[in-house]
Amino acid sequence: MSCQRLLLIGPPGAGKGTQAAKLSEHYGIPAISTGDIFRKNVSEQTELGKQAKVFLDSGEYVPDSLTNALVRDRLAQPDAAGGFLLDGYPRTVDQVAELDRMLSAADTRLDAVVLITADREQIVARLLRRAAEQGRSDDTEDVITHRIQVYEAQTAPLIELYGKRDLLVTVDGIGEVDAVSQRIFAALDGAACAA
Ligand code: AMP
Repeated sequence: MSCQRLLLIGPPGAGKGTQAAKLSEHYGIPAISTGDIFRKNVSEQTELGKQAKVFLDSGEYVPDSLTNALVRDRLAQPDAAGGFLLDGYPRTVDQVAELDRMLSAADTRLDAVVLITADREQIVARLLRRAAEQGRSDDTEDVITHRIQVYEAQTAPLIELYGKRDLLVTVDGIGEVDAVSQRIFAALDGAACAA
C-alpha cells in the first residue's frame, strides 16, 4: 500500500499547514487545505468568501454544507485523481461521513490519517507568535481559545473514530519542522503505508 490518500488532523497551532507542504512534496500529492481555500475566497471576496468570513473571524466552523461542497469540487480536479493530502478536513463527524461517500463513489479509500499532537500551552504560544508574524484575523487570543474549544468538541472525536478504523498514525508535533516531518515519514513508511 502506498501513501497517496492522507488526512492531517490536529489542534490549531499543531503545525498542520507546515507539515502538509512537506508531506505533499515527499509523496508527490497535492495538499488541500480547506482553511487556505476559505482564506483565499475571503480575500478575493467571492460569494463563498462572503459566506465563510463570519465563521473564520469568530473561530467557528464553516457549515458542513459549504465545506463539503468545496472539498467535493476540489477532489474532482484531475490533480487529485492519483492522491491527495487533506489538511483540516474532515473536522466533524458529518464531514467524515461525507468524505466516505466521496471516496466510495470514486472507488477508493484512505491510506492513513496523521494526527499531529501538541499540548495546549505550546499551541497557544505558537498561535500568538503567528499572530504577530502573519496577522491572521483568527489568531487573536479570544478567538484562539474558542478555536481550541471548537476543536475539542467537534474534531477530537474523529481521533477515536479513525483509530477504530486502524488508520490513525500519531506523531508528536513538538520540535523543529524537519524533525517532525521525519517523524511523520518514518511513522507512515513503517506502518500505515508500508509496501
Ligand atoms: P485552518 O487554517 O485549518 O486553521 O482553518 C481556519 C478556519 O477555516 C477554521 O477556523 C474554520 O473557520 C474554517 N475551516 C477550515 N476547515 C474547515 C472544515 N473542515 N470545516 C469547517 N470549517 C473549516
